[in-house]
Amino acid sequence: MNSSSTVEPVVKEQAPLLFLILFFLVQVTVLTVFTVPFSWSLVWLALGSYFLRMFGITAAYHRYFSHASFKTSRVFQFILAWIGAMSMQKGPIWWAAHHRNHHKYSDTEKDIHSPSRKGFWYSHMLWFLRNDYNDYEVKLIPDFYKYPELRFLDRNHWIPPLSYAILLYLVGGWAWLVYGYAVSTFFLGHATWTINSLSHVYGSVRYDSRDTSKNNFWLALLTMGEGWHNNHHYYCSSANQGFYWYEVDVSYYILKVLSWFGIVWDLKKPPKKVLDEGIMRDREQKESKRLLRETKRNAKLKNKVGVLST
Ligand SMILES: [Zn+2]
Ligand SMILES: [Zn+2]
Repeated sequence: MNSSSTVEPVVKEQAPLLFLILFFLVQVTVLTVFTVPFSWSLVWLALGSYFLRMFGITAAYHRYFSHASFKTSRVFQFILAWIGAMSMQKGPIWWAAHHRNHHKYSDTEKDIHSPSRKGFWYSHMLWFLRNDYNDYEVKLIPDFYKYPELRFLDRNHWIPPLSYAILLYLVGGWAWLVYGYAVSTFFLGHATWTINSLSHVYGSVRYDSRDTSKNNFWLALLTMGEGWHNNHHYYCSSANQGFYWYEVDVSYYILKVLSWFGIVWDLKKPPKKVLDEGIMRDREQKESKRLLRETKRNAKLKNKVGVLST
């Protein structure tokens, strides 16, 4: 992973201790929920904070910085990076470089978070707690590494989450800090990490992506569209991961609306060939399931007839 000539030394030296302490503090602070009387308005706040930052991870860190699946201005690029960093999942360049590595080596020995190779919890969260992954290979992400403001944000990835937490406290006091930050960040983190863990374990397979990626409706709901992970692994440069109208992909809907206002543009879509292939594969799978059901039904009937005739 390390390439001392290309990795900024400051990233290597600063990240571990501060990040580890903050990480475990945030995990434990979810328990502060018991110090605040329950109210639905606080639940809505937690959900709003969750989905705002989930968009920062899915649309910004993943679809923009990792896969360059749409274009935007330099100013909005920074805003996207800031919202993503508010999730407390390190900086955009770090995140995207490691994610590009995941696609390059999906489910091989070199994959940094493959549940089939290294176990569920390792792929879910233990991998990024290791010192080995505090660095990233610059050659994986020269297209964004060239921006000094992104490199600054990457080195100081604690600024957006900390200022967000302070803002919540100033506006709504302890209750807002607990629900809007502690509770929300806990669930946001684990939901995001399911895409590295659960969506390589549970779900259906449409495309032959040569890895363990799955499509999972429930994970797509939870992560604003990222659960269509098999689609994504097969054709990863697309801005939409739900390839058909019935595959819910809220991040893409928001990107689409932003494109109407000229805030983002050139949203990449899967080519017709990929879409047609998906429909064909769905039909084949439906047909083989039908045949299997029919075979089972016939076997049961045969058994019954056998029992009656004896
Ligand atoms: Zn994956
Ligand atoms: Zn990806």
